Amino acid sequence: MPSSIISIGQATGPRRSSCGYCSPPGERSQADTFVQSGGLVGIQLSCDVYQRMIDRGWRRSGTWCYKPWLEKSCCPQYTIRLDATAFAPSKSQRKLITRWNRYVTEGDGSEGRGTSGPNQSAQPSKVAKPTKSGSSPADFLTSLHAVEKNSLGGSSSASTKHIFEVTLEPSSLTQEKYDLYDLYQKNIHKDKENTVSGFKRFLVTSPLASEPIAYSGSRKEHLPQEYGSYHQMYRVDGKLIAMGVLDILPSCVSSVYFVYDPAWEKHSLGKLSALREIALARKMHEAGAKDLKYLYMGFYIQSCQKMRYKGDYQPSFLADPEDYTWHPLDIVCRPLLEKHRYACFSAPERSSNAEVDDDEDLETPSTPIEVDEALLSSLQAATPPFRSPLRSPLTVLPITRTKTWRDPYERGDILHCVKGLGEEVSREIIFAVYV
Ligand SMILES: [Zn+2]
Repeated sequence: MPSSIISIGQATGPRRSSCGYCSPPGERSQADTFVQSGGLVGIQLSCDVYQRMIDRGWRRSGTWCYKPWLEKSCCPQYTIRLDATAFAPSKSQRKLITRWNRYVTEGDGSEGRGTSGPNQSAQPSKVAKPTKSGSSPADFLTSLHAVEKNSLGGSSSASTKHIFEVTLEPSSLTQEKYDLYDLYQKNIHKDKENTVSGFKRFLVTSPLASEPIAYSGSRKEHLPQEYGSYHQMYRVDGKLIAMGVLDILPSCVSSVYFVYDPAWEKHSLGKLSALREIALARKMHEAGAKDLKYLYMGFYIQSCQKMRYKGDYQPSFLADPEDYTWHPLDIVCRPLLEKHRYACFSAPERSSNAEVDDDEDLETPSTPIEVDEALLSSLQAATPPFRSPLRSPLTVLPITRTKTWRDPYERGDILHCVKGLGEEVSREIIFAVYV
């Protein structure tokens, strides 16, 4: 996808922090350490550039993009993607849809008793059977959207006990979204120190510049018209019960985060939302966005039980940590991950069980990082101010002629970042330098 959009960001190098995925202290077999090999604060990124970054193991949190260093982290994070065009729901996924459809159609018996959330003890139903979830791809989409009102392909005209709506909107800050996030963080992550600005930084702000999606088929009114960052809103009877943060990119829907009202925990909304995101990717593909075939579910972490559910959506693939080729999770990756802390799928002999060294100094630029001379001389830099949107040509200069480059620490950071981005992407990014 040729893009006229300028991509610009500030490079950072290796950073160490504590791992968010470890087992509790005492049950750990490894030092608790997460290492990123490179980072980029995205000032503006084209969706095409960001697509290629996540294909090399990057991920974003707000405008902060980072690439985990799998060899040096206790719980290596592998990029996982699911082929949405070949997805068929498992028996338990079909059950989940059926159960949700039944709740929307018939309620759970708590209605009219003054409760606002779903009742914890569902009553046996006496109403006619709701839509059955089929296993064929077409059945899957039909059953998934059977009880939605006026949403992405939802065509329900039947009268249901509850009104269920799913809508997609460009990411934006509202009080309603913040309240849901705050509720989720407090109850699920026991995180009491939430702020509106923190929420905005983490889940609203995005470096991605929107661009029109070229559907080859007829224009689909109910599908997104632009690549970019979105919020998918789930409402029951008008009340916001969950929200997915999504990036829509040239070859995928990328799931960034998901928050839900803990009162709805028993409905497994996280798993239902993944099914809706698969459906979104598939519909966009069928509408003529031909390259858009995948759902990226973020990172797969073998050592983290909570993250394993991501592997339940089939067929799924993990990106190799060294050459970034994709390998089938069940056949190739899982057997290696069960044997090794660090698994390399393209060259299994490179897999390792070596202990991570959490004392290793990663920030002192002692070991030279090998980056091709020709590439170095073509890297571009620019100094502020950077006004948004950055469409007009900026004054750029070779990065090797900046003051930043002469500082060995800064240079080390840039080199690590460039190595993580790879040659092609590095050539397309303008590196923001502040001195
Ligand atoms: Zn860990």
